[in-house]
Amino acid sequence: MQIESKLPNVGTTIFTVMSALASTHQAINLGQGFPDFPMEEGLISLVNRAMENGFNQYVPMQGYLPLREAIAEKISFLYQTNVDAQSQITITPGGTYAIYTALTTVLRPGDEVIVFEPAYDSYIPNIEVNGAVPVRINLKFPSYGIDWDLVREKISPKTRMIMLNSPHNPTGAVLSEEDIDQLSSIVKGTDIFILSDEVYEHLIFDGLPHQSMLRYPHLMKRSFVCFSFGKVYHCTGWKMGYCISPPEWMEEFRKVHQFNCFSCHSPTQVALASFLQKKDSYVLLGGMMQEKRDYFQQLMEQTKFTPLPSHGSYFQLYRYDQISDESEKDFAIRMTKEYGVAAIPVSAFYQSETDHKVIRFCFSKKRETLEMAVERLLKIK
Ligand code: GLN
Repeated sequence: MQIESKLPNVGTTIFTVMSALASTHQAINLGQGFPDFPMEEGLISLVNRAMENGFNQYVPMQGYLPLREAIAEKISFLYQTNVDAQSQITITPGGTYAIYTALTTVLRPGDEVIVFEPAYDSYIPNIEVNGAVPVRINLKFPSYGIDWDLVREKISPKTRMIMLNSPHNPTGAVLSEEDIDQLSSIVKGTDIFILSDEVYEHLIFDGLPHQSMLRYPHLMKRSFVCFSFGKVYHCTGWKMGYCISPPEWMEEFRKVHQFNCFSCHSPTQVALASFLQKKDSYVLLGGMMQEKRDYFQQLMEQTKFTPLPSHGSYFQLYRYDQISDESEKDFAIRMTKEYGVAAIPVSAFYQSETDHKVIRFCFSKKRETLEMAVERLLKIK
C-alpha cells in the first residue's frame, strides 16, 4: 500500500522544529509565537464558571450566538460597519483552521492564488492540498511593502484569490490606506476573492489604524476575514478563532466546516461572549504589546543585531549581517544551541531560496524573559 503524498515538499513546520530544539538545549524560546505571561484571570474564571453552569454540550455549528453578537458589536464599534451575527460569522478552532476552510470553500484544481512572501507557513500547503496553484510575489525588502505593479502583472484569468495578512507575520508590516486603494483598483470588476488573515488585529502600534477588510464594503463583499482569540487574549493553546464573510459565501464555508469540526469548545465561547462586553479587553491590547516591542528594541540596542521596523503583531525582525554570513537557518540553529536563544529564520517563510540574514523574534514575553534573552545575545560577537 502507498499514499501518494498530496504535500510531497512539506516537512515539519519550523515552529515545531525550533521549539523542540529550544527545549532540548534549554534555550529561551523567542521563536514560535506565543506569550509566556499569564493570561487574564477573569477570562479563566469565566470559562470555569461556564463549565460549572453546565455549558458542556454542543453549541450550534455556527458558534454560540451571544459570542457572535458580541463580535458584531465590537466590529460596529471599531470599524463602523454592520456584520450580521447570524449569517456572517462562524466560530472556528483557531485562525489557521478558518484560513484553511475559506481556501477549501473557494478553490478548485488549477485556480491561482496570489500569495506574498514571506508568507505564514500554512498558506501554500493549504492552497496546494486543494489542487490550486500559489502565485508567489516577494514583498519589497526591507520595507516588506507590496509591489502592486507586480501584482497587476501576475493577475491572470485563473486568479481566484489574493491572500493578505495585516499586521503581518513574520515582518510586523501593516497595510496602509494606499494599499487599500491599490487593491481596490485591482479587484474592481473581477471575480477575485480576498482572504484576509487579521489574527493580530488589535496588536498594532504607533497609532496606526488597522486596515481591516471589514472597513471597506466594496472589498468585504469578496472577502473571508480570519481572526484569532488565542493571539489577542494570550491563550494560543485554546485554539479559538472566527471567520467573517458575506452571507452567501459564509453559507458555503459552513458546508465545509460542519463536516470537519462541527462546533467548537462551548465553555470558552460562553466565557468570551461576556469577556468581549468590556471594551478594555481589546482596546488596551495594542498599547500593552507596543510597550513590549519598545522594551525589547531598547534592550537589543546593545547587541550587534539591526532592527527592521515592526508596526504590529508580536514579532520583530533583526538582521544579523554584522555578526555572521551563515544562512538564516544555520545561524538560528547555532544561536539556539550555543547561546540559548531560539528565533525563527525568515527563509522558512519563503519557498524559494531567499536569505537576507534576517531572523524573527517573538517579543510577547515577560520583561524578565526578554532581559535574560538579550543578556545571552550580548555574548554573540
Ligand atoms: N503563529 C505562530 C507563529 O508564527 C505559531 C503557530 C504554530 O506554531 N503553528 O509563530
